[in-house]
Amino acid sequence: MEDCIFCKVINGEIPSKEVYSDEEFYAFRDVNPQAPVHLLIVPRKHVERVVQFADEDAALIGRMILTANKISESEGIVDEGFRYVLNCNLGGGQTVFHVHMHILGGRQMGWPPG
Ligand code: 5GP
Ligand code: ZN
Repeated sequence: MEDCIFCKVINGEIPSKEVYSDEEFYAFRDVNPQAPVHLLIVPRKHVERVVQFADEDAALIGRMILTANKISESEGIVDEGFRYVLNCNLGGGQTVFHVHMHILGGRQMGWPPG
């Protein structure tokens, strides 16, 4: 984990704009925002890819969504609509190999994604 960018963000080695923090999750503003609201929520536990979650992580995964929902409410993006994104592997657009969910809002989202 020592070379993991998001482990360094979580432990403060890399500065970030925090929006939420608890014992399980850390959420912060994406450094290269793709929407007026672009946040990342990451589990403090280092898991490289979403497919590496195990059965024992089921409750953690559920709480990640519930926590993201609270953050989306407080960011004021729920009524207009928003998007949660989990990229997996290079073909899925994953560039940082510590599981993170994007929270995107504040503009109309297109479909299909690029
Ligand atoms: P991925 O492409 O892996 O799904 O998403 C990685 C995201 O992390 C990208 O949107 C990228 O802009 C963001 N990112 C990469 N490094 C940093 C960083 O050091 N700080 C912050 N705040 N965001 C980062
Ligand atoms: Zn990590």
